[in-house]
Amino acid sequence: MELQEKLRVLSDAAKYDVSCSSSGSNRKNTPGGLGSASEAGICHSWTEDGRCVSLLKILFSNECVYDCIYCMNKNSNPVERANFTPREVIELTLNFYKRNYIEGLFLSSGVVRNPDYTMEQLLAVVKGLREAKFNGYIHLKGIPGADEALIHAAGNYVDRMSINIELPSEKSLLSLAPQKKKESILKPMASLKEELAVYQSEKKISKHTPAFLPAGQTTQMIVGASPESDLNILRLSEGLYHRYSMKRVYYSAYIPANENRRLPALQTKPPLLREHRLYQGDWLLRFYGFTAKELLNPGNPNFDLDLDPKCFWALENLGLFPIEINKATYEELLRIPGVGIRSARKIIKARRVAALNYQDLKKIGIVLKRAKYFITCRGKYYGGIALYPENIRRQLIQKPKNHHQQLSIFDLYEKSILKTEAKSKVLGEL
Ligand code: SF4
Repeated sequence: MELQEKLRVLSDAAKYDVSCSSSGSNRKNTPGGLGSASEAGICHSWTEDGRCVSLLKILFSNECVYDCIYCMNKNSNPVERANFTPREVIELTLNFYKRNYIEGLFLSSGVVRNPDYTMEQLLAVVKGLREAKFNGYIHLKGIPGADEALIHAAGNYVDRMSINIELPSEKSLLSLAPQKKKESILKPMASLKEELAVYQSEKKISKHTPAFLPAGQTTQMIVGASPESDLNILRLSEGLYHRYSMKRVYYSAYIPANENRRLPALQTKPPLLREHRLYQGDWLLRFYGFTAKELLNPGNPNFDLDLDPKCFWALENLGLFPIEINKATYEELLRIPGVGIRSARKIIKARRVAALNYQDLKKIGIVLKRAKYFITCRGKYYGGIALYPENIRRQLIQKPKNHHQQLSIFDLYEKSILKTEAKSKVLGEL
């Protein structure tokens, strides 16, 4: 198979991994036009400091000896198969980099022959790239079940590694991916965590300490292929953050690819809005001091798709509100819908000089459209309605009709319900 053909097959097969946030499009140049776009697997990802980087996103191989029921590349699916050699991936990456198409590589793979063999191939790629003096970003998938020595060796060459947990419970793993074992996923995560801790403490002593996963480890979970609630999913994420020092948990709305009675029907739309709510809930765990069991409970195990998770929590805990903006602690401010980390800090700083009035809050950047129902300012309540959950909920939901549908990703940004949220998400305000 020609290299270009392999690239087409293996970049298309990589699109189900969401740790990179967008995939390439295919557009031919027009007469008199400028430029063209190729589907050759260039995607964009965001670094810790918010920079957008373009990555070559490919599978090393879409052959797989496993038969995970939900996966397009499972062994029993009659899809077109292709394999790179390590040398081919190295050359492709270097050539794309030299032409300024990419700033790094995102490499995953199906399990070819067995986990050790696959990990050896991936290791050969990343080692070869560094030996060729490639200093760009590399995000590598660790293969569950591979020898830990191979996974660790790869950690010496790559910036970030993810070992995907894929399904939110052992029961679902047994049902949908029976050849994968929980231990083969969690054990390498635990040993990467230990190695990372050693690296971080040695780095404090000597800045010449050889790098080991400087961008940490991440994982991915499929949402909607199995019956777990948002509570189950967030509790698992919380455990992963605490126990394995995970940098990020990515949520991937399940796209029905295979017909099977254990999976949602083929015509089921990917639960994109649910995925979005989980990302918001995850954000509250990581940056706002919430715990999973505060946000959700067995009586309310799923987020309300109409409300962002902080509004949802606030309505469930309305007894804690309204909060006086001029007296609240930093932690209390963070719990007010519409007050983000930056605005909470600004409030604390500004009120040292003088008590804030309602106009000041606008200037500080608080999303008053949400916050006004949950605060008082100099003792005055600006919500304009009685403090009952249903009253406030009605006001917070802009489009109460047709709200039970799952939207497509493109619809999301059309709908005004999410326009405001998309903007506030960029600003980190929830
Ligand atoms: S191991 Fe990965 S590539 Fe192979 S079938 Fe399972 S999910 Fe698909």
